[in-house]
Amino acid sequence: MPVIFRTTSIEIASAANVAERWRSQYQRDGKWTRTASGDSEEIYNALCDLGRNPDIAAVATIIGNKSWSYLSCDGCDKYVTHAVKLNHGYSEKDHLLCRNCLERGIAAFDAVKG
Ligand SMILES: [Zn+2]
Repeated sequence: MPVIFRTTSIEIASAANVAERWRSQYQRDGKWTRTASGDSEEIYNALCDLGRNPDIAAVATIIGNKSWSYLSCDGCDKYVTHAVKLNHGYSEKDHLLCRNCLERGIAAFDAVKG
């Protein structure tokens, strides 16, 4: 079956509402759970101090990794600020590719032109 991508768009990394997302992940019945990054309530309070649409690098510093505020490229697994989002419409899963991975793919096409 041919795969036809029905949506193609540029995604931009964002940390909008990250504090609320953090709370819903790490607070159960009013109690905070511990994380590998440290005390989840302290992290939540620090995220709240950044405002509703915080800087993505500041969020990564507070949490200790980029997974909450950057995009993860499906080609190279690196965290990036921009990616092309592809979805063929048959899956909930979006495929994100960074510019470098897209360019490598186009170079691979060019290499086999004939
Ligand atoms: Zn990539």
